[in-house]
Amino acid sequence: MLRSPFRSTVKIEKYTCGTGDRFAHQGRAQLQAILKARAAGIDVHPVWNKSNREHSIIKSKPDDVRAEADSAVAALGWKGAYYVDADHIGLKTVDAFIPASDFFTLDVADFTGKAAEAEAVEAFLKAVSRYTGSLSIPDIDRPFDLTEKTVRGAAGKFLLAVQEAGRIYRHVEGKKGRDNFVTEVSVDETDAPQNPVELFLILAMIAEERIPIQTIAPKFTGRFNKGVDYVGDLVQFEKEFDEDLSVIAFAIREFGLADTLKLSVHSGSDKFSIYPIINRLIKKHNAGLHVKTAGTTWLEEVIGLAESGGEGLALVKEIYAQAHGHYAELAAPYSTVIDIDSGKLPDPKSVMGWSSAQYANALRHVESSPHYNPHFRQLLHVGFKVAAGMGKRFTDALEANEEIVGRNVTENLFDRHLQPIFR
Ligand SMILES: [Zn+2]
Repeated sequence: MLRSPFRSTVKIEKYTCGTGDRFAHQGRAQLQAILKARAAGIDVHPVWNKSNREHSIIKSKPDDVRAEADSAVAALGWKGAYYVDADHIGLKTVDAFIPASDFFTLDVADFTGKAAEAEAVEAFLKAVSRYTGSLSIPDIDRPFDLTEKTVRGAAGKFLLAVQEAGRIYRHVEGKKGRDNFVTEVSVDETDAPQNPVELFLILAMIAEERIPIQTIAPKFTGRFNKGVDYVGDLVQFEKEFDEDLSVIAFAIREFGLADTLKLSVHSGSDKFSIYPIINRLIKKHNAGLHVKTAGTTWLEEVIGLAESGGEGLALVKEIYAQAHGHYAELAAPYSTVIDIDSGKLPDPKSVMGWSSAQYANALRHVESSPHYNPHFRQLLHVGFKVAAGMGKRFTDALEANEEIVGRNVTENLFDRHLQPIFR
């Protein structure tokens, strides 16, 4: 045991789904998918998440997300728990989110790889000294060789970052009061993935920092590109995800962390090839899971507008043409999470001649369809900035075509995400 055990009284539900919604128009359609899931026996709860980066591009405010969530919940009579997530915040950005949010994703990736004070490193080494040597974790078939060098290496990469998470956590706690919010720590936007031993040591650091963590978002092996399927070694992913779940169960017992602590998968939408693996493993370990699916709803809005024909179709053709024209600028901030071959992007002039079905089929994420074009899809994924620039013209089109857009949003979330992940 490190220090005396502590537990938060906040108990996040076992299965939660982060339903980011760039333009804050699909709260009801998203909640409808959650209701369909519950009718199908899947006990999943919604978390509306939006990052500071998205707010600044769209020019929205955290209060807008709260208003959207509350109004969807009231309209559909949702009785369960739900949350509003201040996604990927740091000390510099968190204040604007505090009144509206009850879930905070502390993003400390920028602090990884930087050295903490020598004294803190020594204290951490001492705190985990009982684990050094051959470390056996229940359900993992081989012991890990946890040397002092490994611990120092992990401290060098993560200790300063976890200390920063502690500072953010205490700042939020000071304003909201203990046990009034869910805390997630995210290190997913780092260069290298974290292996299960590193995850174990990160959780030890979090326990030492006394952060009552509920969800942890590591960077997993493989590529989690925006809006498209997982790219990587499925066997390796399965092995590490399996071990990560064993590590979490072990860390809960050893460090006195909340027994509801669970993994959070970021950029979790559209990762169809790993959903069966994730589903199998969370059932095997009887583990909880949080999945964030931010951008996929925006693409369903585009699909719905394409299907609506007429002005809606004309509008999304215009969005594509503009996105194509600003390709480099739109893609740059996402360079590590998209893989677009510009040679495979359709010419905007020919897209102008497309029918509703041609546009929707090129965009809709159905891998088996010969019409599906992942390059077209990824460009539109980052192209929400173009729609944001259209302002009311775009949101008016969403409102005019609410039914067809909402149907696509609900079906995508329920059929292609909630069912395969949680059922
Ligand atoms: Zn993330």
